Amino acid sequence: MIKIFCPDECLGSLLDVNLDELWQNGYRGMILDIDNTLLPWAGDTLDQETVMWVRQAKEMGFRLCLTSNAFKERVHKIAAALDVPAVASAIKPRKRAFRLALDMLKTRPRETVVIGDQMFTDILGGNRMGLYTILIDPVAAEELKATKVMRRIERRIIRRLSRKGYISESAARRRLGKSKG
Ligand SMILES: [Mg+2]
Repeated sequence: MIKIFCPDECLGSLLDVNLDELWQNGYRGMILDIDNTLLPWAGDTLDQETVMWVRQAKEMGFRLCLTSNAFKERVHKIAAALDVPAVASAIKPRKRAFRLALDMLKTRPRETVVIGDQMFTDILGGNRMGLYTILIDPVAAEELKATKVMRRIERRIIRRLSRKGYISESAARRRLGKSKG
């Protein structure tokens, strides 16, 4: 049961994602979370490294789509800056947003990756849809109060997943060291 929360990979940041390996393994679509994945929750400027990463992924042939539980205005502004489609007010982990994203990407679940910083939205939602899930560390510590509460439960699950060997000890240690609260 706990495996439904388990990401396929646990990385420090978007920049650690191995695009070559994903491509070689047949992945063609990527669904990206916005807040604390692409940029800080409270910020509105993308850093140059993130912009370059997105550009590189697109040049390789990946199709990208943003999904976010944030409201339209913010989501579409960031999507426009990156020139990718987006699903706003997504209510992740509900399946609907992921289905919409798959429609936009025109990729099948087994060739699609989800990248996000939250276990209960990005990873749970992606796993329910049979997508390849990558959990990254949040870009910044600042976030919604409700998210902070979920982080405590997330930390407990990360410890359990690590004890069971589903998440490497080093990834768990890095993650738990960063996300206090
Ligand atoms: Mg997020």
